[in-house]
Parts: sequence; C-alpha cells; structure tokens
Amino acid sequence: MRCILLLLDGLGDRSHPVLNGKTPLQAAHSPNLDQIATIGMNGLFHSHLQGTALPSELAHFLMFGYRLDEFPGRGVVEALGEGLDVREGDVALLTRIFSVTEEQGALVLTHENPELDQSSCQILQQEIGIFKQDGIEVEFVPTKGIGGILILRGDVSSAITDSNPIHEGRPLMEVLPLRRASEDLCAQRTAAVLNAYLCWSYRKLSAHPLNKKRVKMGLPPINAVGTQRAGMLGKLPTFAERWGLKGLIIASGALYNGIGQVVGMDTRRVKDTDDPSRDLLERLKLAHQAREYDFIHVHTKVTDEAGHKKDPLFKQRVIETVDKALAYVVKEIVPDEEVLFIVTADHSTASSGTMIHTGENVPLVMTGKYTRRDDVKAFNEVSCAAGGLSLVRGNELMYLILNFIDRAKLWGLMDSPDDQPFTPGRYTSLRVD
Ligand SMILES: [Zn+2]
Repeated sequence: MRCILLLLDGLGDRSHPVLNGKTPLQAAHSPNLDQIATIGMNGLFHSHLQGTALPSELAHFLMFGYRLDEFPGRGVVEALGEGLDVREGDVALLTRIFSVTEEQGALVLTHENPELDQSSCQILQQEIGIFKQDGIEVEFVPTKGIGGILILRGDVSSAITDSNPIHEGRPLMEVLPLRRASEDLCAQRTAAVLNAYLCWSYRKLSAHPLNKKRVKMGLPPINAVGTQRAGMLGKLPTFAERWGLKGLIIASGALYNGIGQVVGMDTRRVKDTDDPSRDLLERLKLAHQAREYDFIHVHTKVTDEAGHKKDPLFKQRVIETVDKALAYVVKEIVPDEEVLFIVTADHSTASSGTMIHTGENVPLVMTGKYTRRDDVKAFNEVSCAAGGLSLVRGNELMYLILNFIDRAKLWGLMDSPDDQPFTPGRYTSLRVD
C-alpha cells in the first residue's frame, strides 16, 4: 500500500463575523472534501505545538517526521530549491539589499522593501558579490528582486544572530554568536566576518554611482545588506532511511523542491497557471500514476496565498475552486484499495489579525482500507475535532501513515541494527555457506 497526502497549504483559519462566525472552510461549499470526511477517519493536526505559528518549510520538515533541532534553516532550503551550490558545512542566510541612513554611527532601516528595477538590482548585487576575510568566503547570490542568499564557506558556524531588523526605524543589528555558542571561536569568527561584510557592503553600495544618482533624484539609496535565519547544511537521514518509504513531492514552489532535497525525496516541479483547480487535478493524476513511490506529497499554495489576502470571502471561494479538483479523488483514488489518501495542511493562515501564519491546528482526514470510519460528515476545523483521530501532532502523522499502510513495526523487534519504526527493516540474511 502507498500513501498520497494532499496538502492544502495554510488551509486552517479563524471564525469570521462576515461568514456568520464560520471559518472559510466551514462556509465553503466543498462536497468532495465532505465526502472524503464521511468515508474517512478525521481529526486535527498541528506540525509542532498548538499555538505556534510556523513557516511552511519548517512545518513540512516536521510533518515529514524530522526534529526541530535537525532543521537546516530557510536559507539552505531556498538555496537548494533554487539550485545553488550549497554543500555540507556551508552556512546560508536569507538576505536582501535595502535602504538605511546613518545616525550616530548606526544604520537605521528606512525602506525594507524598496522598489528597484531588475538591472539595477543586478548591478548593485554584483558589486557586493564576493568578500573574503580570515579564511571565510562570503558570496551574495541573487534570487528574486532585491532578495538573495548569502553563502558562507570555510570553517563557519550557523550559531549567529540576524542583522536585518525587519521593522523600519530600527537599526541594523550587530551579528553576535548565539548564547549557547558565545564561547565558540568558530561562531565568534563567523559573526565578525559577517559584520565586516555588512560594513564593507554599506560603504561600497553608498559610493556606487547608481545610488549617487538616486540620491540626486530624491530617491533613497539602496545601500545596505540585511541577513536573517542562518542555517547550515548537515547530514540528515533520508526520508527513506527514517520511514522506509520512497517519497515524492509534487509542488510548484522552489521551497518545496528545496525541502525535498534536504530530506532526500524526489521532486516533480509543476507550474501554477491561472486555473488552480486544473493544476491540482493534474497533480493528483500524476500522484495516482506514480506507483513506484510509497509516499507522494501533493501540494498547492493557493489556499495559503488566499489567507494572506486577509479576506475570508476570497479564501472561501478559493477553497471551493480547489474542491472541484477533488471529484477525481472521490471517483478514482478513494476507491483504490492500494492507497491511503490524506488531506491536511501544514499550518493555519488566518484571514484576520496581523500575524503572517497563525498557530491554530488544521483539519485532517485519512481514508484507506484500514482506517476507521467515524461520524464526521464535513471536512473543516470544527467538525473534524469530533473524529476518530483526535489531535495529531508532529511526527505522529508519519507513525499513523505507517500504521494505516500496514507497515509499522511492533516495538522491540530488531530485524536490523537500526531501531526503525517500519517493517521490514534493512536486515541481513544469515548465510550457511
Ligand atoms: Zn504563507
């Protein structure tokens, strides 16, 4: 048996007065999701602790059964997703160029997201492309617009703080070793080199003719670099090693391609068009045909993007569009005895409030030949709470998947030197010749 997990990114939400106290998912006309809930076993899911608001890449990483302390950082995930040359031991940081003004020796952020045409971005980013000091090389690799990834190579540490204050009006922060690494010479040296790079970049960018011209025109100069979320690519067990399943991710975003590489899953990069229902239908068909995989993760970002618009009615409509593609699931995938089909989300993206993502749990349904059938008849954040799965957190999801595809090991049996959660393990045959 194999598992197809449909992930509706950022699906969970809050109750809204404009929807008569319902969530967008509750308010949506979504007969196919409701049909799957009726057949399946329902519950709620949180990829970490209830109330914690997670970014998608971390939520996915935890869903796939990895630990928080194993996470290599968003910079590494994005770099791998963009196809950059990041190797084990390199540190990667999310980076951008922006506008600061000097006030009593401090660099105060004035425009975090300044507008700049592509060719000017390239010219400025090239200017600060490579920097070397104390055996450490710093490379700025542009990704999109003013954004980029900063890669540090050499004897470097990711145990360092951010320099980007994010909020305008606050000064750029000195990069420091984290508290736990305050005595670590490598972290101290990495922080010192990064601070030197930030000062060097400020001077180089400020003196650039393009910025001089901007100032003359009354525009803010794009004259500093901000960094955040340092991470390091380390050695992780692959998804197949940890869970005994050959995994595939079908998604459009580079970030998911990056997550796939971090955990050693194959990725199928698909395109988003202006028809999210058709896009999702194609992904589901691909997933159903991919019989060589044991675990297939089908992803759509449209529900999360709808939540970010902070318009509950819009998100309701997007969910209704997505639901149309699930007629295929009800007709073709759910009746397939060889498939455990799951629908859930990585986190909530509430259409109200000021938070980027929110910490509420999300609905979850599992349907396969070994799942129980509970009394839930509607797929949403409230109805699913009464289902047979209760609250599922973190890597419990992967244990449940192994259980419902009939592959979980009886604890205590040791068919290989690793105490793996699946059966059969990588055993060695006894030989008599
Ligand atoms: Zn989001």
